[in-house]
Order: sequence, then structure tokens, then C-alpha cells
Amino acid sequence: MGNCPYCKQKVSLKEVKTETIGTGFIGQEKMYICPHCENILGFSNRQR
Ligand SMILES: [Zn+2]
Repeated sequence: MGNCPYCKQKVSLKEVKTETIGTGFIGQEKMYICPHCENILGFSNRQR
């Protein structure tokens, strides 16, 4: 996945925390959180 822009540590897809926001009716958003510093790395929009 790359490096965290906040703590500069390597973040792999296996380590990264994800949180899903939304009910699914309008569209869900996945939030990626750094496992080291818990900053939000980004969002991925899951729309139909
Ligand atoms: Zn970080």
C-alpha cells in the first residue's frame, strides 16, 4: 500500500485498519486507518 504520510512507516494492506461507514443504501465508504499512528489514510468509495 505504501508509506503513511503522517508517521512515515510502512503500511501494508494486511496491517491497515479498515472501517466501513454507511448503511449501504446510499453507498458505503471504506476508511483506511494507519495501524501505527491511527491517522486516516484515505477513503474508498464503494458505489453501485
Ligand atoms: Zn501512520
